[in-house]
Amino acid sequence: MGTAIEWTDAVWNPVTGCSKVSEGCRNCYAFGLHDMRRKALLEGKKLPKQYAKPFTEIQLFPDRLAAPFKWKKPKRVFVNSMADLFHKDVPDDFIWSVFDIMAKCQEHTFQILTKRPERMEAMLSGRYWRDLGTSTRPFFARIIKGEEREGDVPFLPNVWLGTSVENQKAADERVRHLLETPATVRFLSCEPLLGPVDLEFTAQFEHPDNEGYGVQAIKGIDWIIAGGESGTNARPLHSDWVEGLRDQCEEYGVPFFFKQWGEWVPFNQTDTFPGHKTESIKMGNITCWRVGKKKAGRLLDGQEWNQFPDGGERDASRT
Ligand code: SF4
Repeated sequence: MGTAIEWTDAVWNPVTGCSKVSEGCRNCYAFGLHDMRRKALLEGKKLPKQYAKPFTEIQLFPDRLAAPFKWKKPKRVFVNSMADLFHKDVPDDFIWSVFDIMAKCQEHTFQILTKRPERMEAMLSGRYWRDLGTSTRPFFARIIKGEEREGDVPFLPNVWLGTSVENQKAADERVRHLLETPATVRFLSCEPLLGPVDLEFTAQFEHPDNEGYGVQAIKGIDWIIAGGESGTNARPLHSDWVEGLRDQCEEYGVPFFFKQWGEWVPFNQTDTFPGHKTESIKMGNITCWRVGKKKAGRLLDGQEWNQFPDGGERDASRT
């Protein structure tokens, strides 16, 4: 399924539904879209049955699992744009089925983003198997081959795992779980970015079998996406916050992708005065204008930031 999301080529939604966990969820796009369609369905419009249930009810779609086998050209695929795969109501078995498909479709790159990285870590780090009373082993080797083989890598090379970081609190709580999860690419989605985020802090890990250790958070991150919020109740994005992330990425050699300003554009990021009648908001030392997502665009300090962790490009046909 095609998508307007700038950093991916397609979405794959074997799960829908979610519940809000933090400030970044306040104006959840998926929530709003589902509610709107649900209302239309209840008013008699013809829409898929999935909209009959409220968004907070997690729905599994086993019939969608095979979709990636049908895509002929290799794609970057965002897994669950309308849900959080690691929500507590998604059963373990279903999550393993999703991983099974990703393991079998190595030609595609799958991007999984969660606000529940503690469950992702628990399932993917080997603790899951220990809790089940089996030895620690790469889960996908077991899924595909039935047996663990020597030399198997402990994660899927075509799966990128990410967590959302909207402010410092989310960074402090979530990044350490991501860093403890085995992954080819670990990424952060800082969207909607709601405050400054410092990723130079030291994430501390504790292990029962040693004294624990610390890692500077940004050194374990392979990609950062940042962006503002869109929609009726969108909150503005201060240019200092996004420049701060961009500067950290440049300093530590982390690829950076700036998705959009969202509904509001800071006055120092546009050449066009939108007129005195345009709604504005003062954020400390800057003023942001409500010009709409399209006009606000995605230039940061006069240029697009389209870096990917695999050195790939953004599809230029998306404008
Ligand atoms: S975790 Fe994501 S999908 Fe779930 S409510 Fe929050 S923003 Fe929406």
